[in-house]
Amino acid sequence: MEYHQLNVNLVADFIRGLSEMQSLFSSFDTLEIVEVGDGNLNFVYIITNELSRDETVVLKQAVPFLRIAGEGWPLSRDRMKNEVMALKFHESLCPSNVPKIYYSSDEMSLVIMENLKNHQIIRGEIIKGKVFPSLAEHVSSFIATTLFHSSDLYLGFDEKKRNVAKTINIELCKITEDFVFTHPYEDNETNEYNPELSLDAIAHIQRDPELRNAVGEMKYAFMTKAEALLHGDLHIGSIMANEEETFIIDPEFSFYGPMGFDLGAMIGNLFLAYFSHDYRQRKMGNDPEKYRSWLLQCAKDVWCGFEEKFLDLWLSHDEAQGTSFIGRDLDGKSAETFRKAYMKRVFEDMIGFAACKMMRRIVGLAKVADIADIEDAAERARAEENALRMGSVMVLQRSNYSNFDELMDLAKSISPLGGCK
Ligand code: ADP
Ligand code: MG
Repeated sequence: MEYHQLNVNLVADFIRGLSEMQSLFSSFDTLEIVEVGDGNLNFVYIITNELSRDETVVLKQAVPFLRIAGEGWPLSRDRMKNEVMALKFHESLCPSNVPKIYYSSDEMSLVIMENLKNHQIIRGEIIKGKVFPSLAEHVSSFIATTLFHSSDLYLGFDEKKRNVAKTINIELCKITEDFVFTHPYEDNETNEYNPELSLDAIAHIQRDPELRNAVGEMKYAFMTKAEALLHGDLHIGSIMANEEETFIIDPEFSFYGPMGFDLGAMIGNLFLAYFSHDYRQRKMGNDPEKYRSWLLQCAKDVWCGFEEKFLDLWLSHDEAQGTSFIGRDLDGKSAETFRKAYMKRVFEDMIGFAACKMMRRIVGLAKVADIADIEDAAERARAEENALRMGSVMVLQRSNYSNFDELMDLAKSISPLGGCK
C-alpha cells in the first residue's frame, strides 16, 4: 500500500483491512480511536473496541516531518524502519520488556503493537514521587542483554558488520549530534534559558576549553564507536511501567553506537529527577531524603545490574566457545584483564554521556518536565544549576571514577539528600 498519512477517521478502515487484526478484534464496527498526541515526532493512536475494551492495540505512524516543528522541518519516514528493526530485536531477546508487535509496514511507516494500558510513562510518575521497585532490575537486564547480543563480543565478525550497515540511522543520529552534543554548548539560537539561570553557569559549559573538549570527545565517540545496537533514546519518557512490569518503547533513534550512551541516558535522567526532587518533595511536604535516596539507588542498581549481567553473559559465551575475544588465554589472566578494562571504558563513557544528556536538557531545546515544569523560576534555576554543575564535573572527570558510589557522593555533595533546608 502506498504511503498516506492516517488520521482518526482513516485508522478504523485501515485496521479492518489487515488480516493480522482479525484475531485481535471480534468486531470493527465499534472502534474508538484516540490520538495520544504527547509524542514529539510521530502520531500514536489507541484503538479500542468499545464493546470489549480488552480488544485494543496501539498504532504508531511516522510522518515525513518532525511533528513538534511542523511540515517545515522535513524528516525521512525511514526512522520507522529503525524503530521496527529494534523493536523486533528487543522482542526476540527481552519479550517481557517490549510491547508485542502485531504488524508493521515499511511502506506505510507504521507499527501496530500491544496497548500497554496498565502501565504509565514513568517520567510523569517519577515527577509525582512514585517508586518503581523493579525498574532497575528490568532496565539493567534489558540494556545488558540487548547490548551484549548485538556486539562483537557475541556476534560473528560478519554478522555484526552487516548489522551496522542495516541499522544506519543518519537523520536521527544528526538530531542527537546537534541537540545533545553541539547546540547547547555553542549558544545556538535554538537554546532556551531560564532567565533566572546564572550567566556564569551557562558560560562555564559554553566557554571553558576543557569542557568543550570533553563534550567534543563524547560527540566523537557517539559518531564513531559502533559497539552495539543502541535503543538510542533511553530516557524515562521511553519507559512504561507499573510496580511489577517494565516496557521499553520508542527505539526510533536506534543505531550502532557506544554502549555507554543508553546507560548514560537512563542514569542522567535519574540524576535530573534527583535534582528536581529537592524542591518537589519539599513542596509536597515530604522530607526529600527518602525519595531522593531511592532515585540514587535506582541509578546505581542500573549500572551495577548492567555490569553484573553483561559480564555473566560474556563469561558464559566465552566458556561455550572455549575461547575468548582476545583469543586463547594462555596465562589464565589475560581474558579477565581485558574484560575489566573493557567495563571500565563503558563506565567512563556512561558517565560522559549521562553528563551531556543532563546539560543539554537544561540549556538546549528539549527540556525534561521534571525540572522545566517547576513553576518557581528561582527554584527551577537552582535545580538547573545543580544539574549543570554535576554534568560538567562528570564529563571532565569521567576517567577518574572507579565506582558508582563516587557519583552518588558527587550528587549528594552538590545537593544534599535531605534537600536545601
Ligand atoms: P514519539 O516517538 O513520537 O515520541 P512515542 O513512541 O514516545 O512517540 O509514543 C508517544 C506516546 O504514546 C507515549 O508517550 C505513550 O503515552 C503512548 N504510547 C506509545 N506506545 C504505546 C503502547 N505500546 N501502549 C500504550 N501507550 C503507548
Ligand atoms: Mg520518539
